Amino acid sequence: MKICIVGAGIGGCVAALSLARCGHDVEVYEAVQQLTPLGVGINLLPHAVQVLEELGLSGTLESLGVATRELVYFNRHGQRIWGESRGRFAGYPVPQISIHRGVLQMELLKAVHARLGVERVRIGHRFVSAEGNGPIRARFMTGSGAITVNADMLIGADGIHSRLRQQRYPQEGLPRYGGRILWRATSRGRPFLSGASMIMAGHQQRKFVAYPISAVDSDGLQTINWIAELSVEQMPGREEWNKEVDRNVFADQFASWNFQWLDIPALIAGAERVYEFPLVDRDPLPAWSFGATTLLGDAAHPMYPIGSNGASQAILDVDALVKGIGGSSTAAIALARYEAARLPATASIVLANRGNGPEQCMQMAEERAPDGFDRIQDVFAAGELEAIAARYKAVAGFSKEAVGALGKAHRPGAPMASQPTQTDDVSA
Ligand SMILES: Cc1cc2nc3c(=O)[nH]c(=O)nc-3n(C[C@H](O)[C@H](O)[C@H](O)COP(=O)(O)OP(=O)(O)OC[C@H]3O[C@@H](n4cnc5c(N)ncnc54)[C@H](O)[C@@H]3O)c2cc1C
Repeated sequence: MKICIVGAGIGGCVAALSLARCGHDVEVYEAVQQLTPLGVGINLLPHAVQVLEELGLSGTLESLGVATRELVYFNRHGQRIWGESRGRFAGYPVPQISIHRGVLQMELLKAVHARLGVERVRIGHRFVSAEGNGPIRARFMTGSGAITVNADMLIGADGIHSRLRQQRYPQEGLPRYGGRILWRATSRGRPFLSGASMIMAGHQQRKFVAYPISAVDSDGLQTINWIAELSVEQMPGREEWNKEVDRNVFADQFASWNFQWLDIPALIAGAERVYEFPLVDRDPLPAWSFGATTLLGDAAHPMYPIGSNGASQAILDVDALVKGIGGSSTAAIALARYEAARLPATASIVLANRGNGPEQCMQMAEERAPDGFDRIQDVFAAGELEAIAARYKAVAGFSKEAVGALGKAHRPGAPMASQPTQTDDVSA
């Protein structure tokens, strides 16, 4: 099948690799003129890593990032509320990987270039609209004018401001602000706790997240990704992944957060650049698939970056897409199957993240013991914390049983068909 993917982000690249591996004839169309390693840290949960493992990529990605050992929640006094092992350290067959988003994207892109051919990724092609029900006629703007691409299937993996989503839901408007701002950065620092720990401290109004995304170098330092988060009533402007700001906007709110095991003010001071990003998502949609077109990743279900799910859910979409296509007689049937498998599941995560997902234990600790505690058992009933964590894992689909079932549909299949045809659009 000729498949056109819009967007060479995380979801688009993994989709290209997986669909080409099944024998489909794939091209990726990306708006930017040059793909560069943008972003800061991102996490790949075990279910997503299982899919990448099937593509032969998990080992390399693990070596470029960190196999996360544990996730630990603290109150704003630096006292431990709850912690759990993660990835292989929790008995999963694959690791949880913390990695720089740009490094991840570049590695995926490298694999697409190597396996599909460099010419299969068309940069500088901004998707404008899709017409038809299969074959699809997709229109793109390029530096030298508009072109039309014909394909049997079109996948909109074009991120939170998806043009395909906008075409399907013209009234939807901008993403929905969640009343909090995230300041994101990386700093070089000494390993803390296990050296591979992800920590969250504070509560809903004032929170700090930190985790390493590189190995320790010969000076004993590693790259530590961090996010400072505060409640702010007014959204500061439309969200942009690369908006740099002065750290003095928020740093004083964390000035006293020098815990024995992590010096947060020093971490904030050590960053070269700080990026501002408002907490935004969108309401779940009633449908993603329209005939032979569909949405994937942030285009389909942008969610708060809570529970480390953004990239992971995009990768799980790919797994379901490949399974949906396998055995379906038409593109429309395949995409309806994909949507049935993924839309309700991701809608639940979007909503769970609005309730702070697994992080709700921090807010509960703040409300029950604002001045701290001597013993966590005085704050939470037996089994309460375990139940919160288990509930979210079930919603997000990374119970150990669920992980075991992933990736199995990625089988090299039919021979490649001819390329999607590209024609000059004389009407543009
Ligand atoms: C520049 C950037 C930096 C980011 N940094 C972080 C980060 O530090 N931490 C984090 O957790 N998440 C970050 N994200 C978001 C994260 O990548 C996603 O939440 C997640 O990986 C899901 O990926 P996705 O493929 O659905 O979307 P994305 O990774 O956002 O990819 C979407 C792709 O579509 C392209 N695109 C958009 N519109 C069009 C169009 N009309 N035509 C063609 N192509 C189009 C974009 O240029 C982009 O390459 C970032 C996203 C971007 C785009």
